[in-house]
Amino acid sequence: MSLPAGPAVGRTDSLDVRGWFAPVSPGTEEVTLGGMVAADVHGKNHHVAGTFGEHVRSLRMRLADGRLIECSDEQERELFRATLGGMGLTGHVLEVTCQMTRVATPWIWQESEQVPNFETALERLAEAGREWPYTVCWNDLLSDGPRLGRGLLMKSRCAEPGASRTVAAGHAGGADEDREGRHPAHGC
Ligand SMILES: Cc1cc2nc3c(=O)[nH]c(=O)nc-3n(C[C@H](O)[C@H](O)[C@H](O)COP(=O)(O)OP(=O)(O)OC[C@H]3O[C@@H](n4cnc5c(N)ncnc54)[C@H](O)[C@@H]3O)c2cc1C
Repeated sequence: MSLPAGPAVGRTDSLDVRGWFAPVSPGTEEVTLGGMVAADVHGKNHHVAGTFGEHVRSLRMRLADGRLIECSDEQERELFRATLGGMGLTGHVLEVTCQMTRVATPWIWQESEQVPNFETALERLAEAGREWPYTVCWNDLLSDGPRLGRGLLMKSRCAEPGASRTVAAGHAGGADEDREGRHPAHGC
């Protein structure tokens, strides 16, 4: 899919409602596609999807001398590779062509669990990552002793239509959550 680099991802055409979702999205919907390319952003699915740059097929750019140019692994490869994660130093990204992900609904199914300390958090993150495409853990680093790093581990995947209600022990909930424990996909 080819999309303009400028608008904030969360304010474009609600891609998730149309059945497509960015293969990698950072923790804010205010980011632009150009910014996602420039910082080669990671998401909560880093362990399965890598960074955003791995899903970019080609870029349309304006260079410092004013030339408009297409670059990809087949065409102007060095420029393409230097632009992914290049923080805007190689030119202005105008359009991004990337492989999007098909999603059945605009919702994320999330389950949460409490972890008593940092060591357990790391173990559970590794285990959860084998089953869940999106994982993240918030840890309390102000506690000390055996409670250092206690926290909340969140695991999620794209919700399927008609998913039945299962509320996990220690579910975090949240302002955006609907009555069945699902969250809108943006900024997950
Ligand atoms: C609340 C929050 C959560 C975040 N979570 C994550 C996360 O989970 N993972 C992650 O990787 N990052 C995360 N970030 C960082 C964010 O994804 C990056 O800083 C991203 O680059 C911001 O994009 P932007 O569109 O706001 O760009 P800006 O902040 O405007 O610019 C960032 C850089 O990108 C360059 N740039 C922007 N647009 C273009 C363009 N069209 N062409 C060329 N260069 C351009 C700029 O020159 C600049 O160097 C987070 C940031 C916030 C504020």
